[in-house]
Amino acid sequence: MTTIAHFIGGERYEGQSGRFGDVYNPALGAVVAKVPLASVDEVNAAVANARRAFPAWSETSPLKRARVMFKFKDLLEQNQRKLAEIISEEHGKVVSDAMGEVTRGLEVVEFACGIPQLLKGEFTEQVGTGIDAHTIRQPLGVVAGITPFNFPAMVPLWMFPVAIACGNCFVLKPSERDPSAAMFIADLLKQAGLPDGVFNVLHGDKLAVDTLLTHPDIAAVSFVGSTPIAQYIYETGARHGKRVQALGGAKNHMVVMPDADLDGTVEALIGAGYGSAGERCMAISVAVAVGDVADKLVAKLAERARSLKIGVGGDAEAEMGPLVTRQHLEKVSGYVDKGVAEGAQLVLDGRGYRHPGHENGFFLGPCLFDHVTPDMTIYKEEIFGPVLAIVRVPDFDSAVNLINAHQFANGTAIFTRSGGAAREFSHRIQVGMVGINVPIPVPMAFHSFGGWKASLFGDHHMHGPEGVRFYTRMKAITTRWPEKLTAEFVMPTMK
Ligand code: NAD
Repeated sequence: MTTIAHFIGGERYEGQSGRFGDVYNPALGAVVAKVPLASVDEVNAAVANARRAFPAWSETSPLKRARVMFKFKDLLEQNQRKLAEIISEEHGKVVSDAMGEVTRGLEVVEFACGIPQLLKGEFTEQVGTGIDAHTIRQPLGVVAGITPFNFPAMVPLWMFPVAIACGNCFVLKPSERDPSAAMFIADLLKQAGLPDGVFNVLHGDKLAVDTLLTHPDIAAVSFVGSTPIAQYIYETGARHGKRVQALGGAKNHMVVMPDADLDGTVEALIGAGYGSAGERCMAISVAVAVGDVADKLVAKLAERARSLKIGVGGDAEAEMGPLVTRQHLEKVSGYVDKGVAEGAQLVLDGRGYRHPGHENGFFLGPCLFDHVTPDMTIYKEEIFGPVLAIVRVPDFDSAVNLINAHQFANGTAIFTRSGGAAREFSHRIQVGMVGINVPIPVPMAFHSFGGWKASLFGDHHMHGPEGVRFYTRMKAITTRWPEKLTAEFVMPTMK
């Protein structure tokens, strides 16, 4: 049994709190490691280390900070497979999927390598006679990241490369369910030459989070996780004077228009609904079948879902693995029970699936519901498992109205051959990220990621230009060099 350590001030630190969490291998259904849960003193120590590292790091030129990022990028590429295996072992997603996760994170590091360009301010000569004005962006100080289990590498990588490249120091509180990826990343950053204390990993639960949220030396908090916790993080952090971006849960709809290429749409839906066992914040969990497309869509989907290849770890053929914990498996199965009880038609039932050779693993086969209606629990709530719901609507307007009435607004997609319908959809839909014939429209690293409504609390999306804005504050400087200064008693205006 491995005991995972914290990473504070450039060193592994085993922790003295005496409190631990269990880390499972979901494919085996067995505990494989213990993770220490930090005490208040340990959180304070991590923040103090970061605080000590801040003056020197923030004074390091952006060019030199970028060079650390370039080395880190190299190391991440060299170790991508190893990191993917670590993710797979504790999360359960298959290694090929975890490789994709690391690639999406790597792209943010590539973006952060351009930080000298990104931090350039604006300059206006002669805003008044002999007067110039310019703006600069400066780092905030020590910032914290609190991340979910479902992307143990990618979500931290959405945050810290940009934060650190901007000159901040970072305390990461990863999910206690799959904490090893963060430790591996910390080692790579150290090898890349990042000074001690600039990046710290602190494991913990609510106590650690609450201590960070109220700590006077934490300037900003980036959070990704479920909506109730996101709202709590936003409110508590803001009340304590912090800048907060808190990304929450999702219920992503894909509209299937009658003119869509049906075979291609089914392939897109299968990957977006069941990939990573549905444990993606951008997973499609509702297909909105418009007009007469529903019967054909459901028949093809059910056939394709029945042949879905469930597997473990490095199985190159596998399309989906187990769920993260037994508790989560029971929660998702409970939603399926509820869907049946509330009258949805269960076309495909994955409950009771046992994976050969891994009978204790947290597996659930693909589940497909037809005739789901907006009043049902399985429609209203985020399930976060391999459960796809079909809602039938008569026309395009009904599809738009349905989606706009939902509390979540992370991602959505439309599959159609009509440019007019696609344009109308992207204009009218009240959702943060929209795909046109793209099922999972996750923006690239040089754009920014974020939902609307109950899927994001705060003003800034994550990574990309929004990340640079979030992790810096602007300063406006007005300059003149007159031969002789004179007293001014009236409100100055530019002449
Ligand atoms: P979670 O909200 O349970 O946990 C997220 C983080 O919050 C973890 O680090 C956890 O330790 C901490 N936490 C949990 N309970 C807390 C509490 N009571 N007080 C303070 N901190 C607490 O989420 P999860 O189950 O790890 O991840 C899945 C959720 O994350 C889903 O809802 C999913 O949609 C969401 N998610 C959203 C995005 C996005 O971009 N919007 C991306 C990935 C995941």
